[in-house]
Amino acid sequence: MVTNMNAQLDVPAEPDAPVELFMEFANTLEYTRGEPEDSIPTPDELLAWLRRHELISERARAAEASRLRRDAIETETRMSHFRHLRTMVHDIARRVSAAQTPTQDQLRELNTILRTGLHYHQLRLDDDGTRYTVAQVGDRLDQAAAAIASSLAHFLADDAPDRLRVCANQGCRYVFVDRSPTGRRRWCDMRTCGNQAKVARHRARAKAKPGG
Ligand SMILES: [Zn+2]
Repeated sequence: MVTNMNAQLDVPAEPDAPVELFMEFANTLEYTRGEPEDSIPTPDELLAWLRRHELISERARAAEASRLRRDAIETETRMSHFRHLRTMVHDIARRVSAAQTPTQDQLRELNTILRTGLHYHQLRLDDDGTRYTVAQVGDRLDQAAAAIASSLAHFLADDAPDRLRVCANQGCRYVFVDRSPTGRRRWCDMRTCGNQAKVARHRARAKAKPGG
């Protein structure tokens, strides 16, 4: 999303909507005039993102970072899982925003990610019997992926799937939720994308005019 603070259009500001986790994740691949920019291209950046969104602890972030640094194959597997999830979230958002339902394959994949992220807790007592700890058993990165998938699942089931949008600007594709009263928002930001779309249409019309 491009912000242009100088744009002075008589468009009312959109109310601040709570940002869903799955949206934030989808938008880590952000397009500006069709050019993609990945804000989590490396394992360290992905782990920092997961940490910032409280999907892993600081200890887990450091442990995963050093584990992945030592294992290139594991790193590629993990990175491709998260990229795959991101593509799927975006594809589902695009379908839902076009009043379609997710495909059977997409539902199956989403449910697999939710199931793979299962975890359970275990109570442990220190060797000297003085201190209890509750350990979470299960793969931390799979759990983080499941939390993102869960955010999408709950949004579709419990929130406002008819308000899910992918920015109508083809060069943008930002995922957002339209919480406006009328529900007619088509662009991620009327002051930027809406404006760009208008400018592009205007140019196209000017070009089409004979001698223009
Ligand atoms: Zn946009």
